[in-house]
Amino acid sequence: MVKRYGRVLLKLSGESLAGQQGYGLDSSVLQEYAHAITTVAHQGTQVAIVVGGGNIFRGLQGVEAGFARAKGDQMGMLSTVINSMALAQWIEMEGGKAVVFTATPMMPIAQHYSLDGANASLERGEVVLLAGGTGNPYFTTDSAAALRAAELRCDALLKGTRVDGVYTADPEKDPSARKYTRLTFADAYEKRLKIMDLTAFTLCQENHVPIVVFNMNGKGNLERLLAGEEMGTLVEN
Ligand code: UDP
Repeated sequence: MVKRYGRVLLKLSGESLAGQQGYGLDSSVLQEYAHAITTVAHQGTQVAIVVGGGNIFRGLQGVEAGFARAKGDQMGMLSTVINSMALAQWIEMEGGKAVVFTATPMMPIAQHYSLDGANASLERGEVVLLAGGTGNPYFTTDSAAALRAAELRCDALLKGTRVDGVYTADPEKDPSARKYTRLTFADAYEKRLKIMDLTAFTLCQENHVPIVVFNMNGKGNLERLLAGEEMGTLVEN
């Protein structure tokens, strides 16, 4: 099988891990995702993952409730550690090997992220979970994903969502919405298409990291995408 990408950064939202219940962690989603991730890792794709924290806490949500922004953001970053630890455990249960790295030191809960450490794990075929965002408030996990994808020289940033790509309008609201199969960063920017926040988007554009937006909830999608099937929307320079 010809592999499409040797090394990818998979970005998953925290919300997706909550499944139908809308908060916390749904073990059936964890199992499904872990199965898909372990399958592609066993097929030889090096997989780094950034998970969001929106199923537990978001900084801005804290501000609405009266928290200071920076503290709320730190709580948000801690949420991503919980999610990464959960997904890592399910990957191991599926027979994979997973290592959690955190942006700020959190020993013995996880390893402190370093580029060399993460590279070495990826080379060994371990799934690498990059938790704790960028380590800084005022950023998002999309930005953390873009940063790590550039740093680890990933061939693509795969943004797993619940829709199968980028549309001309919201397909859940507008039945005439059409899907883009390919876009340039410039097109996406001009059309004001919301793919990732602008910090993340610009980082990818400047560092030539293509983004693929695809539906992570379709069974076998991740595997088929990595096997070279046209899927979702590709955004590139
Ligand atoms: N966050 C942060 N810095 C980062 C990454 C994340 O402060 O580098 C915080 C921020 O408060 C954010 C929360 O962590 O709201 C959870 O991340 P995000 O909202 O990106 O998660 P998702 O929406 O993908 O579940």
